[in-house]
Amino acid sequence: MKTLAEIITTKDVETIFNTIHAMVALVESDGMLVSWNSAFESCKKISPSVVNLNELFSPNDKSLLYGKLTNRMPGHWAVEFPSGGSGASKYCECVFIPMDNGRVLFIAERMESDIALQEMIEQLNRRVKLFQIESEFTKKIARNKQIEIDAVLVQASEVAHVDPLTFLVNRRTIIRELQDEVLRAERYHSMLSVSVVDVDNFKAVNDTHGHPFGDEVLRQVAHQLRDSIRHPDVVGRYGGEEFLIILPNSNSEAASEQAVRLCKQVREMVVTMKTHEVNVTLSVGIAQFRVGVDTWDTLLNRADNAMYEAKNDGRDRWSIAK
Ligand code: GH3
Ligand code: MG
Ligand code: MG
Repeated sequence: MKTLAEIITTKDVETIFNTIHAMVALVESDGMLVSWNSAFESCKKISPSVVNLNELFSPNDKSLLYGKLTNRMPGHWAVEFPSGGSGASKYCECVFIPMDNGRVLFIAERMESDIALQEMIEQLNRRVKLFQIESEFTKKIARNKQIEIDAVLVQASEVAHVDPLTFLVNRRTIIRELQDEVLRAERYHSMLSVSVVDVDNFKAVNDTHGHPFGDEVLRQVAHQLRDSIRHPDVVGRYGGEEFLIILPNSNSEAASEQAVRLCKQVREMVVTMKTHEVNVTLSVGIAQFRVGVDTWDTLLNRADNAMYEAKNDGRDRWSIAK
């Protein structure tokens, strides 16, 4: 079968050009008009003096037009172009077909402007909306992720600082507190005391009632200690059944008053679990910080030794380091 181009005569082409609604113009590569069809004529009538295609484009589009004319590639361009009898600019679909002699065949077809444009705008709006929804969704996910991360960080910090059995601060943290308080006492020559608290005969509790019961005793002793100390004192789990209380701005006398209270409360406490029932007692060793003499570890050692003194003296009591 022959192609249309093979069958159509020059006369037919002339007829076609002058019948179609598309505006066709042959232009030089600089836009100078060489020839045009009747549809283009009707647009040119509005401004008869036009000799260059670029005069029909808006100032912004003029510069782009030059590129379209010279890039020697067939191209489409949806752009404002005077296309109606009223002379009003409408959106046209423009096609640039490079010809052999350096000229360009320019074809402009009016887009069913309002409808097509409307559709284009609506499509764009839909895309924008979709994008907004997506970005909202992404933001929400990011917010939730941040909440999860914060929760994990809080948990991580708890794991690092809190003893899981008693929920008191752990050994590392209470020692750091002690180091800070010693620095403060040295700098401001303020008073500072510490109490090492040890559960008496705790091994026997484990041996008689089992380890889980021992755990329960430790939890309840810790509870008592936490409830009995006053701000700004801090208590932490220092070892298995040993606790450390730091008493800033307190001398050994204030610490011993606290120790009397603690010993009494724990002595009177009954720990029950199923059918088991047990009473425990505490031995407390107290040391007051000596500015210029003690470091945090000598202070702790003195309190530890005082605690052993209390043990040797019969337990369920407190003793003050010399
Ligand atoms: P003392 O009066 O001289 O302090 O005697 P004690 O039996 O309390 O001291 P000892 O050091 O002989 O025993 C302490 C026991 O505490 C030994 C250890 O198994 C137990 N223990 C340490 N940590 C835990 C714990 O987390 N849970 C339980 N249930 N027992 C623990
Ligand atoms: Mg001990
Ligand atoms: Mg003990």
